[in-house]
Amino acid sequence: MLRNVLRHSSFLKAAARANLPSAAAYSAPAIPEPITSPDIPYTGVFINNEFHKSESGKQFPTINPATGEVITMVEEGDKADVEKAVKAARQAFELNSDWRQMDAYDRGQLLNRLADLIERDAVYLASLETLDNGKPYSNSFMVDVALVVKNLRYFAGWADKIHGQTIPTDGPHFAYTRHEPIGVCGQIIPWNFPLLMQAWKFGPALATGNTIVMKLAEQTPLTGLYVAKLVAEAGFPAGVVNVIPGYGPSAGAAIASHMDVDKVAFTGSTEIGHLIQQAAGASNLKRVTLELGGKSPNIIFKDADLDYAVEQAHFGLFFNQGQCCCAGTRIFVEDAIYDEFVERSVERAKIRQVGDPFDLKTEQGPQVDEEQMNKILSLIESGKKEGAKMCFGGKRVGEKGYFIEPTVFADVKDSMRIAREEIFGPVQQIMRFSDINDVIKRANATVYGLAAAVFTKDLDKANMFAQGLRAGTVWINCYDVLNAQTPFGGYKMSGQGRENSEYALRNYYEVKAVITKLPVKNA
Ligand code: ADP
Repeated sequence: MLRNVLRHSSFLKAAARANLPSAAAYSAPAIPEPITSPDIPYTGVFINNEFHKSESGKQFPTINPATGEVITMVEEGDKADVEKAVKAARQAFELNSDWRQMDAYDRGQLLNRLADLIERDAVYLASLETLDNGKPYSNSFMVDVALVVKNLRYFAGWADKIHGQTIPTDGPHFAYTRHEPIGVCGQIIPWNFPLLMQAWKFGPALATGNTIVMKLAEQTPLTGLYVAKLVAEAGFPAGVVNVIPGYGPSAGAAIASHMDVDKVAFTGSTEIGHLIQQAAGASNLKRVTLELGGKSPNIIFKDADLDYAVEQAHFGLFFNQGQCCCAGTRIFVEDAIYDEFVERSVERAKIRQVGDPFDLKTEQGPQVDEEQMNKILSLIESGKKEGAKMCFGGKRVGEKGYFIEPTVFADVKDSMRIAREEIFGPVQQIMRFSDINDVIKRANATVYGLAAAVFTKDLDKANMFAQGLRAGTVWINCYDVLNAQTPFGGYKMSGQGRENSEYALRNYYEVKAVITKLPVKNA
């Protein structure tokens, strides 16, 4: 199965690179049929390897964004449940606990076993993700679940390779460092990639030996709870991983301000990122990592392969219904090719397949909820009012579910709201440039700094951009290429710290210096 998953995933990437329309890539015949009405056995608060009712007795609905209907009710964890979960995680972190006494190799084996179970249940998990989030099943299966498996295995491999240093010191002393787990890690994740964001947070935290209290996004709690069950099945000791479905201002805030949580890792909006950091500062100065919003520039030079650049710009913006923090939302196109680029982008948007996310031909499903849909529609209105030229789209599709037409704006000015604010939807802004130094300045003129891309055949230009753009990732002649091995995170108000790669591990260990006095003279 894994080989299949990975083959599909590389097929998708290869197809994107070869400039096949994504619809062709997505309808690869080998994708197993989805389960369109999956059973949902796990809706509780997961503490100590068991599901519980919420302490308050409250539940909340999770909605199918393709229909607007309630899928199921889920236990609503809040402060009291966070309290219980932190106690469980603290106990699992005691020095003499099974988890702390475990071989580093065995920690890696547990992560690998979790990856095995996710692979075993890949069709189910991808189907559940599509039901709860609305993303096309072909994406859930070929991209999300495949990347989850790779990510967990990548960090499984790190578990027994987390070394300190030996350090020459002054005087008759011997010094070394230990890289020790931080302790109880609070992790708060968003709804745009529920499974993948969970894996990005689990991998480095568990490889380094921490324990976890994770809050799932209220819009998409189902797959994270199913994975919690797999955590228990894999054999992780009770209390190592605790998973709470619930709302941000209650459960999320309780984690961020808890005095016995040693670290909080948050992925979500910059607005809430401020609150997380304030709560950490006002409580116990817990360590904070943040992966926040973006308004990423994508710069297309006239020497780029035009067909390919149009397709990549389309993919870099519309992928995942535009609900990516690193989406390439500000597309700067060189004067000489501007009109043709806009025309071809419109042609491409027109054939984008929007509809039932379980249909293998679908490229774009619904937005995650009504609130997001309305926010996107109001930003589209602002674009029209401020004088951008709406070349295609702009409206809701149908009246059921939260679908929005792929939308293309041309003649966008840097000062417009659609060029400054994160839209998090299928809305493409195409701007014009003529001078290379000027476009670097414009690309950097934002509070964000998550990602950036440049399309050119000129190596000097590409290198100028790679150095000049203040962003955590710069893609050259590609977009959205994300691996477990490469760091991901933001400059400026796009975040702190890095996800993925060896760099992510650094956010999950403390460095302890141990200094020993040596005998002054050898006997
Ligand atoms: P979005 O606006 O895209 O939903 P958010 O930043 O609001 O993004 O949400 C990301 C995650 O942060 C979700 O799990 C959400 O419940 C949580 N969250 C929201 N508000 C708070 C808060 N005040 N404290 C902690 N977590 C929060």
